Amino acid sequence: MKRAEIIAVGTELLLGQITNTNASFLSRELAELGVYVYYHTVVGDNPTRLREAIEIAESRSDLLIFSGGLGPTEDDLTKQILAEHLGKTLAMDEFHLRKITDYFESRAVQMTENNKRQALYIDGAEVLKNDFGFACGMTLTEGAHTYFLLPGPPSEMEPMFLKYAKPLISASMNGDSTHLESLIMHFYGIGESKLAADLADLIDKQTNPTIATYASDNEVEVRITASATTKEEAQQLLKQTEQEILAIDGEFLYGYGDVTLAKLITDQLLDESITISAAESLTAGLFQAELGATTGISQVFKGGVVTYQTETKEKILHVSFETIENHGVVSAACAKEMAENVRQLYQTDVGISFTGAAGPGSLEGQAPGTVWIGLSVSGYETETYLFSFGRDRNHNRRRAVKQGFQIIRAFLAAHPDFSANRKSHE
Ligand code: ATP
Ligand code: MG
Repeated sequence: MKRAEIIAVGTELLLGQITNTNASFLSRELAELGVYVYYHTVVGDNPTRLREAIEIAESRSDLLIFSGGLGPTEDDLTKQILAEHLGKTLAMDEFHLRKITDYFESRAVQMTENNKRQALYIDGAEVLKNDFGFACGMTLTEGAHTYFLLPGPPSEMEPMFLKYAKPLISASMNGDSTHLESLIMHFYGIGESKLAADLADLIDKQTNPTIATYASDNEVEVRITASATTKEEAQQLLKQTEQEILAIDGEFLYGYGDVTLAKLITDQLLDESITISAAESLTAGLFQAELGATTGISQVFKGGVVTYQTETKEKILHVSFETIENHGVVSAACAKEMAENVRQLYQTDVGISFTGAAGPGSLEGQAPGTVWIGLSVSGYETETYLFSFGRDRNHNRRRAVKQGFQIIRAFLAAHPDFSANRKSHE
């Protein structure tokens, strides 16, 4: 089994100006190939430290995958330092040199000499084509180590890896019979610490598959990874662990893989031709922006309003004066009228409303993070739901949106007859 190390080169990474997404991409890809990634290294554009990083990586890894530092400028020095380290020289790759010179000629722009640096490769290496840029990639094996040098920009690195590097790594793995398979499960409505505590026994006793929990944007992801000699065996192991997790916290699971809660619901609205409108106060359009992210949503999303000020709630949505006088805008009564009235206004099957105190201050004496969501569905009693998210302003707003999708999901799950009826009326 190969041990790989990803070495991302670039001072910007160390300064926090860019995120090391190349490492995540490469790790995912390598896991799929059955290559164990043991280390992620980040090193600045500094010759001494880059040399050090290479030496350390060689002492503990077989496969060294570099990203970044293949460009035209003086601070791009990955291949220069590696060549020096291996006692090799640089050669000019004619294909990439032509590509660079053709580009400048076609634009009638004077090419500066340093552009040619992008066509240099380490003598003896196999050149990897850059289909989306000028800097060539390369790979070479020296003794026990195999090196891959890939460009920094993800738009160049990812296609180069997928088209040219991945098949080479895969071929070199032939005969090595470990398969890694993973499964991602998405949970909503349960905190990471609670889920991790629920699964603690399972997590402790498992070494294969491994189970990891990740909290992100108000939800929790569980990643199960199994290794076995065949793909089928690995999948079988995954299946068992998945079932054990479902038996414990299955009620909070909403989907697998790439899915998001918003996408899941918008797809269902589209599938079942359920029309929707929204009235938003504290979320100020965030919910509708999420709807707008789904292609084709215009078939079911008729529109909505942002009624931010109290006066607008009265004028545009006709929330009654009595409601506002007696209950305030952060109230079940206001959420109910907003949801019902927007549904009437837009003539939709579903109307959803959001009103609350985003924070940091309180509103009408209500603590920051107090949110009411109203759901009005044609043929059903309007329901209102109270939440106290109580975090910072934008967290509360995003949380409210996600909760809105969850409320729709719960309604549709609890009323399978609703979509069936709607279909028969079409
Ligand atoms: P260039 O020809 O653009 O100079 P390069 O191969 O020399 O490419 P760098 O100079 O290290 O690469 O980085 C160029 C850009 O690529 C960075 O500004 C950044 O936007 C992106 N980038 C570099 N490294 C990474 C990384 N590890 N993860 C995500 N993006 C990265
Ligand atoms: Mg560069």
